[in-house]
Amino acid sequence: MNRQTETREFQTEIRQLLDIVINSLYTDKEIFLRELISNAADASGKLRYLQLTGEQIAGPDLNLEIGIEVNDQAHTLTITDNGVGMTKDELIENLGTIAHSGSKQFIQHLLQNKQPDKNSEEGSDLNLIGQFGVGFYAAFMVADKVVLKTRSYQPDEPSWSWSSDGSGTYTLEETEEKQRGTSITLELKESAFEFGKAEKIKKIIKQYSSFVPYPILVDGEKV
Ligand code: ADP
Ligand code: MG
Repeated sequence: MNRQTETREFQTEIRQLLDIVINSLYTDKEIFLRELISNAADASGKLRYLQLTGEQIAGPDLNLEIGIEVNDQAHTLTITDNGVGMTKDELIENLGTIAHSGSKQFIQHLLQNKQPDKNSEEGSDLNLIGQFGVGFYAAFMVADKVVLKTRSYQPDEPSWSWSSDGSGTYTLEETEEKQRGTSITLELKESAFEFGKAEKIKKIIKQYSSFVPYPILVDGEKV
C-alpha cells in the first residue's frame, strides 16, 4: 500500500510555546507525566460517557486502563489508553492549534509579552509552566521526538500516526489497524534518560496521579 505522509506546520502560537518548553530551564520536568496521564484519563472518561449513552464504539470490550511501558535500553516511554482516540481532523485541531489547548492561558501570556524568550520574562514563564502546566506539549521537555498513534472510537475511522521533534512541524500518516485509543511514545533526551526507568515512573505516579480514577499499570504491574 502506498501510504500518504503529510507534514504540516504548527500554528505560530504553538511554535512559540514549544520553543519555551524545549529551551526552558524549568526543573520539574516530571510534570510531563501528570499531563499525559491526565489526558489519558480525560479520554477514558469521554469513552465511558459514550458507553453510557449507548453510542456505537469500536472495541467495546476493551478495559479502561492506562498502561505505561518503559525501555531503559532504547530510552523510550510509551503511555497507552483505551479512551476516545482521535480522528485525523481532531489530531490537527487538538495538537496543532491552541483552540482546545489547556495551555491557552500560558500562550496568551506569551502573546502579551511579545518576546517570550527575553531574559526578564523567563522567570515568569517558568512559573506559568508549573501553574498551568503546558498540557500535551510538556512531552517535549523530556523527549527529542514524540510519536503518537491513535484510533477514534468511531467504528469506521482509520488509525493515524502523528510525530514531531517539536521544531515547528509534525507529520501525519495513516497506519495499520490499531485498537481504539491512543499511545504516545517519547524518545527521551539524554538529559531525561531517568524517565526510562520503571521505579522512577512509579514514584512520579504516586506523587502526582494518585487520584486518577482508572488503573495505571507500569510494565504490566499495577501502581
Ligand atoms: P487539555 O488537556 O487541557 O485540553 P492538552 O494540551 O493536554 O490540553 O491536550 C490537548 C487536546 O488534545 C485535548 O483536549 C484532547 O482533545 C487531545 N488529546 C490529548 N491527549 C489525548 C489522548 N490521550 N486521547 C485523546 N485525545 C487527546
Ligand atoms: Mg491535558
